Amino acid sequence: MPLSTIAFDADDTLWENEQIFHLTEQRFRELIASHTKIEDLGQSLLETERKNLRYYGYGIKGFTLSMIETAIEVTGGTIPARDIQEIIQAGREMRDHPASPFPHVERVLKSLTGDYRLLVITKGDLFDQERKIAQSRLGGYFDDVEIVSEKTAATYRRIFDQYGDGPGRSLMVGNSLKSDILPALEAGAYGVHIPHALTWAMEQAEEPLDHEKFHQLQSIQDLPDLIVALSS
Ligand SMILES: [Mg+2]
Repeated sequence: MPLSTIAFDADDTLWENEQIFHLTEQRFRELIASHTKIEDLGQSLLETERKNLRYYGYGIKGFTLSMIETAIEVTGGTIPARDIQEIIQAGREMRDHPASPFPHVERVLKSLTGDYRLLVITKGDLFDQERKIAQSRLGGYFDDVEIVSEKTAATYRRIFDQYGDGPGRSLMVGNSLKSDILPALEAGAYGVHIPHALTWAMEQAEEPLDHEKFHQLQSIQDLPDLIVALSS
């Protein structure tokens, strides 16, 4: 059965995202460093984020709350209110970064549109993901945009059944092995991994190298050729 549906992850697949979190974390560490003896603030923050995922989900709001909570914990409650204010401000400024598509993204979407149903499947804050899709000016290429709270095999099965012709005729493209590739393969779709230089510790996983539907590309510009090869 030929491919009919191509789905894309958004953050760090269509545009830069993780770098903004890294820069904000750096700002956070510099702000807190003089108030605490704990050296690995990045690890403390990551532990708080991991614990908070089930309360706040993915995205800027949860990240901001986790920075505040970490700051209170690692300073034993002595962090000055003005520094909390600065953390809140740093979180707000994350939204000011424009979502500019990576090179080749628009050309690739243009070449696929019409021949395939194109979807975005992304997780994160609804409000923030909608803003980025609007800013990127890529929205018009997609038949549907799904903003979900978690990417599991069931998520992919539901979306590919609802908007496509089932997982067997669908392909998922993304930078996260854990969220974009492994659950899409488990659902029965193709998984095309395009690594990004920065990947959040919680999105890392083993490459399923022996899976027949797993493919890895160095750049999104190679995607149309791969799709042609898989469709023939
Ligand atoms: Mg991503």
